Amino acid sequence: MMFEDTHDEHVLLTPGPTPIHPRAQKALIRSMLGHMDPEVFALNSEIQRDLREMYGTEPEGFTALLAGTGSLGMEAGFANLVEAGDEVLVCANGSFGRRMAEMAARYGAKVRLVTAPLGEAIKPADVAAHLDDDISMVAVVHGETSTGVLNPVPEIAELVRGSGALLTVDAVTTAGMEPFHMQQWGVDYAYTGAQKCLSAPPGLAPVAISERAFSRFAARRTQTPLWYCDFEGLRDYWVNHTYHHTVPVNLHFAFHAALRAALEEGLEARQARVRLMGRVIERTLAPLGFSHYVRRPEDRLPTVLALRLPEGFDDAGLRQALRQREISVTGGLGPTAGVIWRLGLMGESARPGPYHRLMTELEDLLGAPGLLDRYEAVLAEEQRGELALA
Ligand SMILES: *Cc1c(COP(=O)(O)O)cnc(C)c1O
Repeated sequence: MMFEDTHDEHVLLTPGPTPIHPRAQKALIRSMLGHMDPEVFALNSEIQRDLREMYGTEPEGFTALLAGTGSLGMEAGFANLVEAGDEVLVCANGSFGRRMAEMAARYGAKVRLVTAPLGEAIKPADVAAHLDDDISMVAVVHGETSTGVLNPVPEIAELVRGSGALLTVDAVTTAGMEPFHMQQWGVDYAYTGAQKCLSAPPGLAPVAISERAFSRFAARRTQTPLWYCDFEGLRDYWVNHTYHHTVPVNLHFAFHAALRAALEEGLEARQARVRLMGRVIERTLAPLGFSHYVRRPEDRLPTVLALRLPEGFDDAGLRQALRQREISVTGGLGPTAGVIWRLGLMGESARPGPYHRLMTELEDLLGAPGLLDRYEAVLAEEQRGELALA
């Protein structure tokens, strides 16, 4: 396929990346400034302040942006906080949990896995059964994008609090859109990716690091093997304003605008918006035979709606036809390929407009008259319900 620069109206309904927020899009074209410019340091401080609010850190908690995607956020945690021979307990009930386990192992950890059947959340009792004084870190993915499952981080955090282990949480599909309370829960290291719940361009990993994690870092017997994201190097630039590496200033501009927009909208309003859109989509598609893939309602991740496809549904053919009409939808991964769709409800995709486009095209492609009318009726009903509650 040739690259064509004609995608102005493209609708991204994938579980990341998400459509870029208009304010972030505009900030991207600001003229370049140097990474040591006082104005950039002022912008960075605002980003750090806003990230403290988004993550719910301790009042002076350390936050920063890493120049890379969410996976760099994941890797930096293991690189800085794990040494060869450390015992690390990884909760892995999907592909991102398994990515964590692989990274921990590459930094020399002895990995203990806690798993759950596909489409189910990790059970805190299973974590408790594997947790002992030898464990130096527990790592868990909050929202498992590969299956649409929400893991019970507050309950797991409570177990870890009494144990002396650090707690690392992948907040890629949750922070900025779902409740996240780093200090209150007792999380030591959290990260996300700019292109997920915040609808900023990809290429930045916002992280938050607790004082406890910094103490563990300071007590390392060996230097961290990953120079680029060394916690001390991060502190040099983000706190002491000395050169470490050239940060992607234009991405900082866009990220700042997207995060500001999120906080101005309000984190609770965003949570309500995701839930409302999830209900509307599920109710609209249910009569066609779509159903929730994740059985238990409390295990469902609101930002990635995993729907089981109707019997005999042409998954690949439909997604290809939608792509020709400038709509991107994501199917399952591995064992769920051909079985589910994973509809993204992070950031700017959790709005009536993008899904209006999906329903319009699906009505036509599936020969399902009335689908769009049902979408509009259910949306109006849910919006009225929300107003009545307010
Ligand atoms: C997308 C994602 C990542 C990886 O982020 P990249 O930006 O693709 O590197 C990690 N964890 C979860 C839960 C994700 O959804």
